[in-house]
Amino acid sequence: MKIIKADKIWVDGAFRDGYAVVIQGDTITWVGPAAERPREQGGTAPGSGPVEDWGRVALVPGTVNAHNHSFQSLLRGIADDEPFFSWRDQALYRFAPRLGPEGVYAGALLAFGEMLGYGVTTVNDFFYVHDGGNDNAEAVIRAARDVGIRLVLTRTMYDWSGAPASFVETVEQASRRCRDLIDKYRSDPWVRVYPAPHSPHAASPEMIRAGWRLAEETDTYFHMHVAEGRYEVEQIKQRYGLSPMAWLESLGVLGPRLVVVHGVWLDDEDIGRMGAAGAALVYNPASNMFLGDGITRLPEMLQAGLRVALGTDGGCSNNRTSIFDEMRTCSLLQKVARLDGAAMTAETVFHLGTAGGGEVLGLPVGRIAPGYRADLVALDLADISLYPHHNLLKNIVYSMSPTAIRRVMVGGRLVWADGELLTFPLARIRRLVEQVTARWREAVV
Ligand SMILES: [Zn+2]
Repeated sequence: MKIIKADKIWVDGAFRDGYAVVIQGDTITWVGPAAERPREQGGTAPGSGPVEDWGRVALVPGTVNAHNHSFQSLLRGIADDEPFFSWRDQALYRFAPRLGPEGVYAGALLAFGEMLGYGVTTVNDFFYVHDGGNDNAEAVIRAARDVGIRLVLTRTMYDWSGAPASFVETVEQASRRCRDLIDKYRSDPWVRVYPAPHSPHAASPEMIRAGWRLAEETDTYFHMHVAEGRYEVEQIKQRYGLSPMAWLESLGVLGPRLVVVHGVWLDDEDIGRMGAAGAALVYNPASNMFLGDGITRLPEMLQAGLRVALGTDGGCSNNRTSIFDEMRTCSLLQKVARLDGAAMTAETVFHLGTAGGGEVLGLPVGRIAPGYRADLVALDLADISLYPHHNLLKNIVYSMSPTAIRRVMVGGRLVWADGELLTFPLARIRRLVEQVTARWREAVV
């Protein structure tokens, strides 16, 4: 048992003074005023653990990065400032086939290690560089374990032949391999695997249906990029005479398991369809800005009752990996889209980046409450970027610098403290990344 005290703790939508959090194993079992801790929660019971007083910090839930492609962190700076298709061809299609398990592992260490330093405690890696098997996906899982981040691996199913061969599988191969991974990690407390047909442009109707069947049979979620670019909406209209959501509905894959990534170009009717079906959205505002995709109509989506989470997307289309950053960007972009400074509040985006992430990924994370995983971030109340303390939550979203992030805990385990990753030497991550990228330079340039 661990008992942590802090000056301020974010509980039920407000900062509370003088509270304590009790952790047993990887889970929070009690939160409340430190003086009122009951005996069974280590109050005065013999054998209870010592109280750790973290002092002048604000404890907030770990943030949830609900959409990422970890290998893309290796491609930062290669094709920045390009339009979408040349970005895709010059960065992704050129380098992804050269990775292999070693490159994938180095990319995931880089992405996840950096994220932990920014207070991301759960990440969803939407993974599609399969090279004809699951070895690369296993390398991502190994990297997540080695740094100590909670992982959802949305294993992509991809059969559009225009993409590099390393992404592409038959429906039968993708279904079998995805099911193998889901089964293997079903009872793992740190890893979940969900099927993820890549997108309407990169997965055939047969692949999309197979992914849905798999999600139903294994009782998991189903992630898919939808309507990131306008071209995709036009393509679906041309081929099927339907809007994206009407088309997915016709395939039988519109329901509460559906997690739409991006949803930039959805109209009122499609947003209504998603709301009626209980579907969810992962919103990636900085990536949408970076690639010039457009602006998702988030207020309408929240109005329609969608569950919404935030994602950074890949490290070469952002190029940051912080969900605190994404909260700020989300609010600012939605304000300017509406020409309305009240269009999106700090409280709303903070919810999307924490509890909203847990709801969309189907995990008990993103809140400091009994029954939730002990995923915590300690923010230094003395950090100059949080001054003055008129409204701490507003400052966390709008003015906080990463220097304020002092400690990060995942499942009761301290993984980051005072600028150091405690689980894996940052110097070793740098070395591995340098080795992988040096090989590319020799091969390509
Ligand atoms: Zn993506």
